[in-house]
Amino acid sequence: MTPIQALREIWGFPEFREPQAEIIEAVLAGENALVVMPTGGGKSLCYQVPAVIQKGLTVVVSPLLALMRDQVTALRQNGVMAAAINSSSSTEEVIETRRLALAGELKLLYVSPERLLSYGFVDELRAYSPVLLAIDEAHCMSQWGPDFRPEYARLGEVRDKLPGVTTLALTATADPATQVDIRHRLGLPDARTFIAGFDRPNIRYTVVPRLEPMRQIAQYINARPGQSGIVYCLSRKKTEDLAESLRSVGVKAQCYHAGLPAAVRERTQDEFLNGDIHVITATIAFGMGIDKPDVRFVIHRDLPKSVEAYYQETGRAGRDGLPAEGLLLFSLSDVIQIKKMIAETTDAVVRDIESAKLDALIEIVASGNCRRTALRAYFGESVTGNCGNCDACLSPQPREDITEFARDALMLAYRTGQKAAVYGLADMLRAHGRPRIEGATEHPEYGKWASLSEVDTLHRVRQLVLLGYLRVDLPQHGALKLTPPSRAVLREGKAVSVVPYQTRKTVETQASRKSKVADFTSDPSTDEAFAALRAWRKLESTEQGVAAFLIFGDAALRSIAARRPQNRDELLECSGVGAAKAERYGTAVLEVIRDLP
Ligand code: ADP
Ligand code: ZN
Repeated sequence: MTPIQALREIWGFPEFREPQAEIIEAVLAGENALVVMPTGGGKSLCYQVPAVIQKGLTVVVSPLLALMRDQVTALRQNGVMAAAINSSSSTEEVIETRRLALAGELKLLYVSPERLLSYGFVDELRAYSPVLLAIDEAHCMSQWGPDFRPEYARLGEVRDKLPGVTTLALTATADPATQVDIRHRLGLPDARTFIAGFDRPNIRYTVVPRLEPMRQIAQYINARPGQSGIVYCLSRKKTEDLAESLRSVGVKAQCYHAGLPAAVRERTQDEFLNGDIHVITATIAFGMGIDKPDVRFVIHRDLPKSVEAYYQETGRAGRDGLPAEGLLLFSLSDVIQIKKMIAETTDAVVRDIESAKLDALIEIVASGNCRRTALRAYFGESVTGNCGNCDACLSPQPREDITEFARDALMLAYRTGQKAAVYGLADMLRAHGRPRIEGATEHPEYGKWASLSEVDTLHRVRQLVLLGYLRVDLPQHGALKLTPPSRAVLREGKAVSVVPYQTRKTVETQASRKSKVADFTSDPSTDEAFAALRAWRKLESTEQGVAAFLIFGDAALRSIAARRPQNRDELLECSGVGAAKAERYGTAVLEVIRDLP
């Protein structure tokens, strides 16, 4: 069997994605390699396809039990013999797995790193004729990476004891330093490295000002009934409050944070995977190892700390390649709060790195330029232009020239000794309230903007901060200081323009626009078929006790709904329907289609 035949017959997918075919070819030729591919890119097939084609056993190391379980189930649904050995396996299961492995019937064996490193295990493995060692989440090997695990760093030892076995290391997050470190620790300094682009074209990035978060989020979610989503919040308390208020408006929501008992967290996670819970409100504790392909939106109620965090968290949406959204509610108060936290860091190097990371994120969030282009540029891709699928591209906001306001604001800040904070400066410009700084009323700019509304004035002052014309001095209670760029405005007549406050109010303005990516709620009759197929899938998944997406992903159901197959052969033409699934579910699915009006 060739790789493309395997892809079509077993997984039912028509084509490989970039660069899966090339990686598989290298693996089959016995080349060791490192793969850096974004979440949802399709890393698993890079070792699963060789595993089914090659003679011998493929050993997959993964640190996440839930992920192992899902992958084994997914493979078995496709008729591929796979098993896992980890701390949750019973003795009977282990015995059965060993029997299958010895008989040469097992194609893939998933193991935890602890098990792999345990005494005698590698010797046992040798009896199963291993040919490929796949190391998932390989960034855990490196101290440079975000989730260093000491036992992972020792995987190089395993390689030494398995001569002739090809190694494929895979990760979604590895900057160049981490890549070097992974190869080094594996003893493969020259291993070929495949890097897939960081773009996630199906994710639409949207940033809106945070005004009334509760109402904004409820409105957004209510417009997407039944869809799965994650709402990230900064604090545990906020996740609890938000889940509560979402439930009160009929959303199946549950909170998740590290302060909850493990059993509760596990149940919530399972219910989310099964589709019994639609929305998880969570701290960043939620996500690692969540492999759910049909998460349709990720909302950030609060600003993440870095571009990496924003990319990784929004990246949990749309792994199935269908349209998905990343919505960020943005408020300057978050920037100030994070800056405060950073300022309290004692290590000067860490402080500088964190500041730079935050600034890079603010640039993406506040500039009003294409978000995707900025994101990709941050990760070192050289791209320019507009992506056509972010709020900045879909509904470019008319900008307003505020040069005169900017000059007045900067001048007044300067003349009053650079002591006023955001609210104080706005008040002085509008002659609102009692001036808190002595002599303020004598300056010509004082009260010059009395006719501008309070929100507009505050918005403009905040934009001046975000654009770098004013700097918030935290130790001095948020006093606004001039910066080198403010000179250009005051002395050289540099123009300043911002997106006005009014036009950016609603969340729905962008979401209702069409984009380049096909809308997946387009045709009502397809929608009807999709809903019926989902209902069937739900029953099937409950009966089998496995997550719904392991039976058929949304992408496969969409494909079936659009095609409306009348017989087994037509069903096999739908993307995501391989031979095993057509055999197992064909009759039921064809019946669902026949019963449609
Ligand atoms: P990763 O491990 O890189 O995050 P996965 O291997 O879990 O990604 O794949 C993400 C999703 O993309 C899965 O639902 C998978 O079935 C799907 N997928 C992967 N490769 C293809 C392909 N060539 N065609 C269609 N779907 C694919
Ligand atoms: Zn864009």
